[in-house]
Amino acid sequence: MNIILLGPPGAGKGTQAKRLETERGMKQVSTGDMLRAEVAAGSEIGKKVKAILESGQLVPDEIMVAMIEKRISQPDCAKGFILDGFPRATSQAIVLDEMLKRKQIAINAVILIDVPREELMKRISERVGDDGSRRSDDTPEVLRSRLEVYDAQTKPILPYYERDGRLKKVDGLQSIDDVGRAIDKILDVAGK
Ligand code: AMP
Repeated sequence: MNIILLGPPGAGKGTQAKRLETERGMKQVSTGDMLRAEVAAGSEIGKKVKAILESGQLVPDEIMVAMIEKRISQPDCAKGFILDGFPRATSQAIVLDEMLKRKQIAINAVILIDVPREELMKRISERVGDDGSRRSDDTPEVLRSRLEVYDAQTKPILPYYERDGRLKKVDGLQSIDDVGRAIDKILDVAGK
């Protein structure tokens, strides 16, 4: 089963993706994590995207599309993947559909974890990594810019997936466990 998790920064996409990885053996494909790894490794891509990540803007589509195509073609994605952070613009959603069609890969569910903006500001300002570290883009200024990017570029994807009935919404204000249960229900139906 392959799914797309959509939602603003801080909605809990990563948390839910990690749980699905453990419980269902699906693979989390987080473009944010992949980009941060490139920056940490000091690779060519890392050098190109470092400043963009720090500003909260979007990395150009051609870099993202090449990255995602390579990643979902790897054997560990064959049992199912969770796209977390991709697509983030309608242009990416369109290219993704073309790519998946070409590869004869189906997406079983597109799930939006919906959380209002005030709650996101609160959550991100409290977000600290497993090792006690804070992401360099988890500051109030960059968050504001990431939320603006979400509203302007990522939100317009929703009608794209709504049109053909693919979009399922989950209330992200619920507890982590309840969000998980709502996602599980959607996946159980989609898997039948
Ligand atoms: P995330 O960890 O998903 O919040 O992503 C962190 C940052 O990586 C974003 O603020 C963007 O700068 C960049 N990024 C992640 N995914 C994408 C994408 N699909 N398209 C463009 N930029 C992305």
